[in-house]
Amino acid sequence: MFYQPQVRLSDRSVVGVEALMRWNNRNRGMVPPDVFIPLAERTGHIRKMTLWAMNTVLRQTSQWRHDWGQLSVSVNMPSELVAHSDLPDMVHNALQLFGSDAIRPMIEITERSLMVGDRALAQLHRIREMGVRVSIDDFGTGYSCLAYFHKVPANELKIDKSFVSRLLTDTASADIAMLIIDLAHRFDLDVVAEGVEDEATCEKLASSGCDVVQGYYFAKPMPADVCEHWLQTFGKDVPTG
Ligand code: C2E
Ligand code: CA
Ligand code: CA
Repeated sequence: MFYQPQVRLSDRSVVGVEALMRWNNRNRGMVPPDVFIPLAERTGHIRKMTLWAMNTVLRQTSQWRHDWGQLSVSVNMPSELVAHSDLPDMVHNALQLFGSDAIRPMIEITERSLMVGDRALAQLHRIREMGVRVSIDDFGTGYSCLAYFHKVPANELKIDKSFVSRLLTDTASADIAMLIIDLAHRFDLDVVAEGVEDEATCEKLASSGCDVVQGYYFAKPMPADVCEHWLQTFGKDVPTG
């Protein structure tokens, strides 16, 4: 698992990390998750991989030594697990084994998970009751169903990097990003922009009311030990604008 920090725009403090999976294959080298996650979904391995991810992420991050309070830790959750599995039990067991007061666990789901109906919603409510927060990832890129949207027990909305990367050059992308920020705040959700690569984008997002950013401008996804070190030194040797 690699980890990418998330930075709050108001004071440029680290508030969380997103866990991103990597496959370092002996013959093929680094295989990107865009390739192996869909493959795992097709071949029936995704449940086991997600279980492994959840346990690994909780175990690693709860051991990080730090002094900045609770860290939000996000794990990506494939839509088929949100709807059709023993997900609440998986989450419950992982929390029993590796949960800690040092972290606030979060799952990232996509809009696809919201289209499948009441079962998914019920599972999400059960997960929320365990103290796990819910983020809606890649918002606006799939089939956004606003009728379902207000029923989802979400805490956060993520603006996809396809909008963020064009924020300064394409008015349509900028308008969509602003719309997502307004929508989220109306429903009392935090907004995270992913794929932030420069200061100008940070400033545009800050002036538009975005809460948190994530992207290469601050840090690329890193292995656990590198990320732990990065978190300890952040603010001392990184751009602050
Ligand atoms: P995602 O959840 O939308 O993750 C964000 C992707 O944007 C990550 O790609 C991240 O490395 C990349 N990114 C972050 N900042 C920047 C930036 O400033 N510029 C650019 N160009 N890219 C940036 P990554 O790690 O290759 O992951 C791709 C996708 O694979 C993820 O998209 C997610 O859908 C899936 N994925 C990754 N890890 C997991 C996992 O553990 N479980 C599941 N189910 N899916 C995962
Ligand atoms: Ca994500
Ligand atoms: Ca995305």
